[in-house]
Amino acid sequence: MASNSGQMSEKNLTTKDWGKEEVAKFIKEHDIKETNLKMSDCLNRLKKFEKRCERLWLHNSIKAHFKIKDEPKVFNDPIHGTMEIHPLLVKIIDTPQFQRLRHIKQLGGTYYVFPGASHNRFEHSIGVSHLAGEFLKTLKSKQPGLNITERDILCVQIAGLCHDLGHGPFSHLFDDMLIPKLKEQGKPVDGPGGKKWTHEQASLSMFDHMVDVNGLEPLMELYGLKLPGDCEFIKEMIGGPLNDGQYEYRPNNKAFLYEIVANKTNGIDVDKFDYFARDCYHLGIKANFDHRRLFMFSRVMKVDGNLHICFRDKEVNNLYDMFHTRICIHRACKHKVTMSIQMMIRDALLKADGELHLSGAINDQEAYTKLTDHVFEKILHSTSVPLEEARKILERLVCRDLYKLVGEAKLKDQPGLKLAQEMIDSLKEKLEKLGGDIEDIVSFYPLLRFS
Ligand SMILES: [Zn+2]
Repeated sequence: MASNSGQMSEKNLTTKDWGKEEVAKFIKEHDIKETNLKMSDCLNRLKKFEKRCERLWLHNSIKAHFKIKDEPKVFNDPIHGTMEIHPLLVKIIDTPQFQRLRHIKQLGGTYYVFPGASHNRFEHSIGVSHLAGEFLKTLKSKQPGLNITERDILCVQIAGLCHDLGHGPFSHLFDDMLIPKLKEQGKPVDGPGGKKWTHEQASLSMFDHMVDVNGLEPLMELYGLKLPGDCEFIKEMIGGPLNDGQYEYRPNNKAFLYEIVANKTNGIDVDKFDYFARDCYHLGIKANFDHRRLFMFSRVMKVDGNLHICFRDKEVNNLYDMFHTRICIHRACKHKVTMSIQMMIRDALLKADGELHLSGAINDQEAYTKLTDHVFEKILHSTSVPLEEARKILERLVCRDLYKLVGEAKLKDQPGLKLAQEMIDSLKEKLEKLGGDIEDIVSFYPLLRFS
């Protein structure tokens, strides 16, 4: 409803079309006072609006009307200690789309080999947001001339918080192992616009969905964000340029902001700083890399005409330690037993797809919000006949009757992959001749990829 449309009809209301005037009129008509704006109280008054997202939007608009700002909250984290979290970030954390990350293991099936690796995307995302803020605040204090604003900091923190919203069950297992197999089976698993589905792209779709169904725009504006541009800026920081390879939502003199959460220039970003520290802690691996020290020796400088985040030369050994940490985590995640377990989970999910419609959920944000690692238990505890094959694989996994490694080879490039397939076929033939209890030979090409 446009702001000059006169009489407001409450039939088929779309509050999101309201301007500030309609919100003010609603407050007056319903005699809403600042003092009775408790969520439960307010939602009760707004119950004539059928959709929850409408009620939330109006509640947030009323708070913005009265300019009611909440206090930051203090979170405790085993990696970063106490973290003060901005109230807008708390609102984002308290949505079903973000809470979903509590149920997605950071390292997927690695937990079945390393018993400490039970951490989830939830705490990692909060950690990335915290580090994004710390890093930017350090740069701001060292270089006031960069003109880093509170609004910039909040946007970068939101990008850190939301960068993994699109991860599927068991994190990388979903994009790297399951989606390609579903595609081979002819399932519709492309992303929007027919592009390859990636968790980064899914994070952008989930971010839009989260902002929409939780009516977050008025709160974002209340805390100083400029919409819709800042939402697009946040998405650029997560997924890279949205159009034509060019960042659009911050000028060139702020280009370094794009290197904090997902650094497309050299891959050194706070996403990695958090998961290096967190994964090592939970895997029981020692890590020498010190991101806090690196923050202190970082400066924004002009390189080839563009502003980039640079590191002091004497930090080179610290950075070597960072890459060494990376390879240590990689070794744990590509451990032969981890791989065997990941392949069993993948096969179970593949066999369950017809019944559980996993492939159908990836472009349906409502369905995807409900898709987490719990599919494992759903299959394992099911009694349904169509899930029997999938269930049997997971029953084997639980009892440690795992796929066995029969051979491995180091491959350098694509011709190597072709050679590998030939080796697998001949190995399969030989094993079949020997007879025995061989069900199948499956192969996998692990890639060094973390994000
Ligand atoms: Zn991440």
